[in-house]
Amino acid sequence: MVRTTPPRPFDVDDVIPGLREYRAGATRLHPRAGAPGVADSSIGGPLLWPADEPWPVCDAGDDHEVDTLLAPATVRRSREIRAAAAGRSFTAAELAELPGIRFSEPEELARQSIPMIPVAQLYRRDVPGFLGPDDTDLFQVLWCPLFHAEDMTPRIRVLWRRTADVGEPLTAAPEPPVVEEDHLPNPCAVHPERVSDYPYREILPEPLRARIAAWEAQTGGPGYRAWSVVPGWKVGGHPSWRMTGPGTMHCRTCGTEMRLLFTVGFGEWDEAGWWRPIEEPAGDTDPMTEVVINRGFDWYLFHCPASFDHPIDTVMQ
Ligand SMILES: [Zn+2]
Ligand SMILES: [Zn+2]
Repeated sequence: MVRTTPPRPFDVDDVIPGLREYRAGATRLHPRAGAPGVADSSIGGPLLWPADEPWPVCDAGDDHEVDTLLAPATVRRSREIRAAAAGRSFTAAELAELPGIRFSEPEELARQSIPMIPVAQLYRRDVPGFLGPDDTDLFQVLWCPLFHAEDMTPRIRVLWRRTADVGEPLTAAPEPPVVEEDHLPNPCAVHPERVSDYPYREILPEPLRARIAAWEAQTGGPGYRAWSVVPGWKVGGHPSWRMTGPGTMHCRTCGTEMRLLFTVGFGEWDEAGWWRPIEEPAGDTDPMTEVVINRGFDWYLFHCPASFDHPIDTVMQ
């Protein structure tokens, strides 16, 4: 099903002269629970992976910080139970099946090699504005589903492929014995939509900020913050810098200013319903992937525009 972001209630480029040149294309992914396969673009779905290529693992071992370790199957079943019980109390049978609030699998399970888990898989054909090396058509993100001492975000692996090179595909990816629930995405189909994205206000030059302030004072409507940076899981576009204040990222290899590649979004829309696609009823709750980065932040992956071979960098906001 197509998902359509409602248009901003005015022509932004018209009401704030000069803003147009800072506009960027972004692709909202609109992840929604589904049953994607390896041939589909997805969040939290299975990856198209060569059978003869080792699956990435995290060997942080003792550096894994344990909060609540659960088997992936336990997390999936708990989510099913919670979804089925929405709006009512749990039955005795459901309560008996849910893990107790203090329950955690043995810590030793976090000390071994942990297979990473699929987070995103995007085919170039599905994603307008796909970002990646010219000769590739598949973007994949995996991460370690555990916490790491002193890291507030997961350890990730980002890669691009040519599907023509995959050959015999892996039929069943290894699963980690345990995960932290916040790092296990629900399998979601994606519904990519190209939109316009505008920078975080404090990134803009002063004359433009003054024009925005004047416009806000004049209209009294929802301010720039409400409609500038597109929220949720997206490809490209602009990041919000709401936690640290304005910032830029520079490539560790060549120093070039980096650009936003991919966003692991916390929410798809706010309480006022801004950004809720017109196809979805007003009563619908924010359809989260169930991924929570450090209690509710957006996580931004940046790439170097000089070369996709240069390392990805990340920032949490
Ligand atoms: Zn790890
Ligand atoms: Zn670079």
